[in-house]
Amino acid sequence: MASYLVVTPAGNILINSDLEANLPLIRASIEGLGFKFADTKILLISHAHFDHDAGSAKIKELTGASYMVMDADVPVVESGGKADFQYGNRAEFLYPPAKVDRALHDGDEVKLGGAVLVAHLTAGHTKGCTTWSMKVSEGGKTYNVVIVGSPNVNPGYKLVHNDAYPQIASDYLRMFDTLKVLRCDIFLGAHGGYFGLEEKYARRKDGAANPFVDPDGYRKFVAEKEKEFRTELAKQRLAAK
Ligand SMILES: [Zn+2]
Repeated sequence: MASYLVVTPAGNILINSDLEANLPLIRASIEGLGFKFADTKILLISHAHFDHDAGSAKIKELTGASYMVMDADVPVVESGGKADFQYGNRAEFLYPPAKVDRALHDGDEVKLGGAVLVAHLTAGHTKGCTTWSMKVSEGGKTYNVVIVGSPNVNPGYKLVHNDAYPQIASDYLRMFDTLKVLRCDIFLGAHGGYFGLEEKYARRKDGAANPFVDPDGYRKFVAEKEKEFRTELAKQRLAAK
């Protein structure tokens, strides 16, 4: 699971609360970098699945952060996962409900202390799955950052005749269209595995090019995931005939 801290003079934005069990690690990581956990002013998520949002209620309680979630994921977050189209009746995927302070819509901006994050609706994996983009500057250069929400089709996902999510297949296709037109220099995502976090972290060296600047890796990842999706969709359509 990947969490991100956007540090600003007006307080910080945390993306992804992860599992309840991850709270001590998130807190220690923030403090280890020299920041204050209590300065967390805004809490965002990649999408309403327990591995990205189960800790949100606790983080809200401890920091008073304002919780901002894409509109279509709000019922899921506020029901502690019960409103999820796939996992709503799976006890092991439920978590403490958290109240959303601001419902986001596709293209909305989240602003704090000069930082601007744009919420892109990239639905399919969840109904309100969100890909975040922002611009960051370093050494006189400006980079486009993209944090991919999730392009994955989980085991058991029904892409055809899904009564709980009838437009799931067209949402996935729209998501790939959205990801393909986003400008990306720094490729990130809800899980480190999407963008090779461990491998890139190991390659970081003073003075060398930053391995996290990886526009080609982003394009390849999106193309690969779209291919996987289209293969699965064709398979399910054939089986449904
Ligand atoms: Zn997920």
